[in-house]
Amino acid sequence: MSAQNLDALLESGVKGRTVIVRSDLNVPLKDGAVTDDGRVRASIPVIEKLAKAGARVVVVAHLGRPKGEPNPEFSLKPAADRLRELSGLPVELAADVSGEDAQKKAAGLEDGQVLVLENVRFDARETSKDAGEREALAAELAALAGESGAYVDDAFGAVHRKHASVFDIASKLPAYTGDLVSTELEVLQRLTEHPERPYVVVLGGSKVSDKLAVIENLLDRADTLLVGGGMVFTFLAAQGHDVAASLLEKDQIPTVQAYLKRAEELGKEFVLPTDIVVAASFAKDAEHEVVDADKIGESRFGESGLGLDIGPKSAQAFAEKIRGAKTVFWNGPMGVFEFPAFANGTKAVAEAMTQTQGFGVVGGGDSAAAVRQLGFADDQFGHISTGGGASLEYLEGKSLPGIEALS
Ligand code: ADP
Ligand code: MG
Repeated sequence: MSAQNLDALLESGVKGRTVIVRSDLNVPLKDGAVTDDGRVRASIPVIEKLAKAGARVVVVAHLGRPKGEPNPEFSLKPAADRLRELSGLPVELAADVSGEDAQKKAAGLEDGQVLVLENVRFDARETSKDAGEREALAAELAALAGESGAYVDDAFGAVHRKHASVFDIASKLPAYTGDLVSTELEVLQRLTEHPERPYVVVLGGSKVSDKLAVIENLLDRADTLLVGGGMVFTFLAAQGHDVAASLLEKDQIPTVQAYLKRAEELGKEFVLPTDIVVAASFAKDAEHEVVDADKIGESRFGESGLGLDIGPKSAQAFAEKIRGAKTVFWNGPMGVFEFPAFANGTKAVAEAMTQTQGFGVVGGGDSAAAVRQLGFADDQFGHISTGGGASLEYLEGKSLPGIEALS
């Protein structure tokens, strides 16, 4: 995987050329206003570098899941407005994706100007399973850039999608990786190819079945695996413990048993929590108590008790492993962090991630949201992945269509 990066494009000269940039402007909206502009901010450097170098920049992005047709609710207008405000660049918005307005405005771009096309998912061909349909849209997008055009993929969050503006277009124009994609790939390569040891992987989140391929792939590479979150109960059940009403995927017990066995054969350390915060119900203010991980069924809530967080002893043990690591990858909250009473395990892990001497990477949509919600800043971590799904697929060992297409 050695796609050319943005510097190579800038060196080849972009003045007067139209460059299509696939950005991630998929921001959350409330009543038409952007509630978190992190993705807009993250997209600015590449757009700015190109515009400052004299390129005519056409930004392609999606927002939400409109059903392949124009829908004002999913217009990119709020994101384009924010891009203009934050970057100070001359940014215009086209009324369509590759239609008359987009063509007219793209043709009228002057050096250093930016045109944002309307939500690319307003065109059903963007996500079509039919390669011919996607190619037709990709050709229309490429045509906006003309003969001397180029394509830059800066939307890491979309590289695992075989979509027209991510995959098909890369074969229609000279294609390059934007800085966000280059950085993510470097980080992911560091985690999979030559991680500094000890390499600790922390896994949590809701379901073990969501993460099977990640566990499988990282089991070989990591030295230590720490497991918390909802998935831990399937592990505890696999060891023969009663987990009462905690989240349990019975059908995954044999798989999990196989992981534990393989870890032992490979000499890997599999660390499960030794204590659990058990609650009376799944609620913000539910009564709760800490019990040993093998005594969940014996809490005062009996068989209706639910494990909603790892306990303080476990949190401390996990934090120590994290602090002593040279490389850490963390995916999945340790508990139901959305309820403050059950956020302590996640908080302890996040804090240790900021204290580790090693390289600490946070991946996963909810995990990234959790650290921000708990008051940590992005720059306290080695890296926070911008593309939850894409980074997990990479770590599962899958090939990413958007990256394959670039190389
Ligand atoms: P990510 O998006 O970071 O990959 P997941 O989507 O796998 O993470 O999991 C996040 C969710 O897991 C959170 O909404 C959290 O409430 C939930 N979760 C964590 N621990 C538990 C638990 N013990 N019981 C039920 N849900 C849990
Ligand atoms: Mg999630």
